[in-house]
Amino acid sequence: MYKAFLIKYGEIGVKGKNRYIFEDALVRQIRYALKKVDGQFNVTKENGRIYATATEEFDYDEAVEALKTVFGIIGICPVVQIEDTGFDDLAKTVINYVDNAYPDKNFSFKVNARRARKNFPMDSMEINAEIGHCLLEAFPEMHVDVHKPDVLLQIEVRNKINIYSVEIPGPGGMPIGTAGKAMLLLSGGIDSPVAGYMVAKRGVQVEATYFHAPPYTSERAKQKVVDLAKQVAKYSGPMTLNVVNFTDIQLAIYEKCPHDELTIIMRRYMMRIAEQLGQESGCMGLVTGESIGQVASQTMQSLYCTNEVCTMPVFRPVICFDKQEIIDVSEKIGTYETSILPFEDCCTIFVAKHPVTKPNLKIIQRDEHHLDDCIDALMKEALDTVEKIHIEAE
Ligand code: ATP
Ligand code: MG
Repeated sequence: MYKAFLIKYGEIGVKGKNRYIFEDALVRQIRYALKKVDGQFNVTKENGRIYATATEEFDYDEAVEALKTVFGIIGICPVVQIEDTGFDDLAKTVINYVDNAYPDKNFSFKVNARRARKNFPMDSMEINAEIGHCLLEAFPEMHVDVHKPDVLLQIEVRNKINIYSVEIPGPGGMPIGTAGKAMLLLSGGIDSPVAGYMVAKRGVQVEATYFHAPPYTSERAKQKVVDLAKQVAKYSGPMTLNVVNFTDIQLAIYEKCPHDELTIIMRRYMMRIAEQLGQESGCMGLVTGESIGQVASQTMQSLYCTNEVCTMPVFRPVICFDKQEIIDVSEKIGTYETSILPFEDCCTIFVAKHPVTKPNLKIIQRDEHHLDDCIDALMKEALDTVEKIHIEAE
């Protein structure tokens, strides 16, 4: 029955003169999301509305699922659109629409007509009354309730006439590409894919960096991160995944620094490298999946020490989330099952039995000097050998 979706968007409606930038980004993301759906669509912007109109048969459920991944959308309304060929045709189409959309007619309804085009011969009150009357005549089981109707039937008289009554919630947020770019430190865990999803929700384009430590971490661990990146890309759009070979830096730290400081010092080098890569590709911030107190390297003191090496802002979207709250999001976005696969992480291999939980910055800085003779060359080597993988959602 439906050949088109009327897309409702929220916050981006209030951006004044920049509004078109947001709308254009939204149109672009909708086109991208619908590319993977069986069927062809025209996505158009008309008088402050966005429509996705199918030009051939399409898979309705797939299309709705795809639209649910587009940030900036607050409502997805499957709509029946007709040319204005007079009131009788309109009434017939509405009766048909209700008949198909609601097999069981035992419900209350209200007609809500709006007339954006004033040369339609009836005003909205008249359309409400007349259409309501026709519906009651066609389906006597239905009844009117103007205060709390089960079904709010929208009739919008524009160039064409829109008829709809269903609004499927969209993901909210802002369209990707309207808020600059950030570098996500993406591990194989539960938290960082959620963090990536969350910044992307605010319109930030995401690039990712993964620290790989072969042969201590396997190809399968890397593949797991690639898979997670693809799942985040479902929402964020295509991204570059930088795979950094971190083995030699980890070995040097292991050899030369106190073992209870390994994780903190390692995290500082991750941040330095990610910042460098981010600067090269125009990122305005780093993103991690850290959450206060979750592990020794995420106490306030540890975060203080890790943060100190960066001049770029570091965004930590899940910083105040409990683990279960992060898990809830990861289940919702579909990354959880992959995240819990049991492949080793580079952090888990070199961790001390008793890592410092309250590192002192001065001491960490002092102990890092043990690396002075080799670290510049190792950092250069790591940056020179980055593998860049182009990631697209599947
Ligand atoms: P996650 O579930 O995201 O792996 P975690 O609870 O395991 O997080 P840590 O291992 O302390 O926490 O990592 C904290 C953050 O550091 C991660 O959320 C991620 O942003 C980054 N990080 C950790 N290990 C890596 C890695 N191997 N590659 C890229 N980023 C990493
Ligand atoms: Mg981890």
